[in-house]
Amino acid sequence: MVLTHLQRFPFPAFFPKPQSLFTYRSLFSTPPLSKLLTRPHYSTLLAAERPPAAEPPAAAELLEPRIEIPLDRLFVPPDTEVPCDSSDLSARVLKGSNIVLSRYARDAQVAEAEFVKSSVRTEDCPSDGLPEFALVGRSNVGKSSLLNSLVRRRKLALTSKKPGKTQCINHFRINDSWYLVDLPGYGYAVAPQELRTDWGKFTKGYFLNRSTLVSVFLLIDASIPAKKIDLEYASWLGENQIPMTLVFTKCDKRKKKKNGGKRPEENVSDFQELIRGFFQTAPPWIMTSSVTNQGRDEILLHMAQLRNYWLKH
Ligand code: GDP
Repeated sequence: MVLTHLQRFPFPAFFPKPQSLFTYRSLFSTPPLSKLLTRPHYSTLLAAERPPAAEPPAAAELLEPRIEIPLDRLFVPPDTEVPCDSSDLSARVLKGSNIVLSRYARDAQVAEAEFVKSSVRTEDCPSDGLPEFALVGRSNVGKSSLLNSLVRRRKLALTSKKPGKTQCINHFRINDSWYLVDLPGYGYAVAPQELRTDWGKFTKGYFLNRSTLVSVFLLIDASIPAKKIDLEYASWLGENQIPMTLVFTKCDKRKKKKNGGKRPEENVSDFQELIRGFFQTAPPWIMTSSVTNQGRDEILLHMAQLRNYWLKH
């Protein structure tokens, strides 16, 4: 039984009321990425460049929290039929997320990754028309670590941290067919005022004008309570209807802090509650850790389904 708290009745196509809840711990185990891929599983990356193996899944699963997701808070990608059978639906929700897998989720593997260029203005970004995903978040949120984990290269994202490039739009081409884009971190409180990124000026233009942007991946540190600047960022994206996926980072940091500190899953729910009013439908979210590699395959599958849908339409 993979679904709990779920009444036995057919699902409507779009869930009008949160009548029942998913408990994501009991939801599906996503098949390994390799089983979902239609292309051969290969890599041009050197073994030496691979990060150390993730923790054994058994240990990670023991720590896995229970999050209840009302049905109307699931993210159902466009052009996706919702199965009538509840167990079929539960098997299609990505682990540690509210994201339903669609038939577009294929070719998710990263075989090649290369730094292409740093641009100061949107007009200077690559013009080959390939789809792209922008990673953005507060300084220290774990953006470089996540980027390295996604491409399985320890140091690729260091390119974005070189002097002169931290305030740029940095493009990394994946498999010669799409881009991961590293945007400047925002809100670094100890930087001198002139070095702080005015994301309003710098990135709003990119978000509003970049026609090949499939979705923004907004990184939020799940080990601490929501920060005002993150809430402002998320709500601006929502109000401007820029497609956004919330990526919660550092979900391995499970020690409950003193003074009312909360666990990652509580911070994840709080954040969503706080931005709820800015979105017509629930944005997709996913829990990750660059230490355990939690969420890595799931992010790649989600990017693949968004990308393949975008390419077809
Ligand atoms: P960036 O400034 O957003 O690029 O952040 P970095 O990737 O450089 O990470 C900032 C700090 O957070 C570093 O000390 C990382 O080791 C740590 N960090 C990043 N991701 C994780 C994670 O998933 N779990 C934990 N526990 N620490 C992380």
